[in-house]
Amino acid sequence: MADTEDTEMPDAANLQWSLAIHGGAGSMKPGRFSAEEDAAFIAGLAAALDAGAAVLAGGGTAMDAVVAAVAVLEDDPQFNAGRGSVFAFEGHNEMDAAVMDGATRAAGAVAGTTCIRNPVRAARAVMEQTPHVMLSHEGANRFGVESDVEQADPEWFATPHRRAQWEEFRAKGERGDGAWFDTDLKYGTVGAVALDSHGHVAAATSTGGLTGKRWGRVGDTPVIGAGTYADDRGCAVSATGTGEVFIRIAAAHEINARMRMLGETAQQAADAVMSEVGALGGEGGVIFAAPDGSAGFAFNTPGMFRGRSNSEGLRETAIYAG
Ligand code: ASP
Repeated sequence: MADTEDTEMPDAANLQWSLAIHGGAGSMKPGRFSAEEDAAFIAGLAAALDAGAAVLAGGGTAMDAVVAAVAVLEDDPQFNAGRGSVFAFEGHNEMDAAVMDGATRAAGAVAGTTCIRNPVRAARAVMEQTPHVMLSHEGANRFGVESDVEQADPEWFATPHRRAQWEEFRAKGERGDGAWFDTDLKYGTVGAVALDSHGHVAAATSTGGLTGKRWGRVGDTPVIGAGTYADDRGCAVSATGTGEVFIRIAAAHEINARMRMLGETAQQAADAVMSEVGALGGEGGVIFAAPDGSAGFAFNTPGMFRGRSNSEGLRETAIYAG
């Protein structure tokens, strides 16, 4: 079927759109953070939600909306993506990001970047300016320079809070009780999914990965079908959590496959896939946005930084389950 382009801009009041965002899922329970910290997280989520919603309410595309929302979260040092990313083993920040367009199933991703201010914009540039889907490490950095996405110094990404977490991780290793990487010391990954008023969905995800990751470890975030996927025949998905498990079950694509082949709703498919993630020992969550206007969450952790809004006037943010 040929792609059709809406040529007329519909009346703003009649636009139908929806948006969901996340700032990572984890073990946070009420009381884990101070009231001020909770309020700051909520304010960060609200700023990202509003950035994406403004695009959609103006008749913009789902792709523009998810990139706008994720770039706000990348610039916010509270979240593990862009500025405020966790530290890799050697003591610097390595970031991964992906985008996917549900109308065309075009996708772009970067892995292991160290000097691109907003990895999500580099992922979009990979999609739009190259015949490739994923670029990694030094090559991705060089592409960032050549494609004119904004650069940033290592100090931009490295916050004192994340450095302290890394030092704690390294000290544990020296005491002999270290792990492959630290899953307790991070909250992580940001993402957005949207349905636009033209009926198309898109997804974007961005992360600093795991504290102490090494050997060029890459998680699910930039792997199309694992942490990020979008298809107008199913839905847009962005994941966060134990990346290795999300890769092994191709989580974001699996949600889409269940919708197409089993006729499940996005919520049913997301719940089923999160049970499977749990059965393989994984933790985390997903957000989804489908062409029927539904946008929501499924997670198996005590909390997930999240928010959603739509053209019906919904605008909500939350951290804890329930
Ligand atoms: N999924 C991310 C990764 O594996 C981390 C996270 O979401 O916490 O890199």
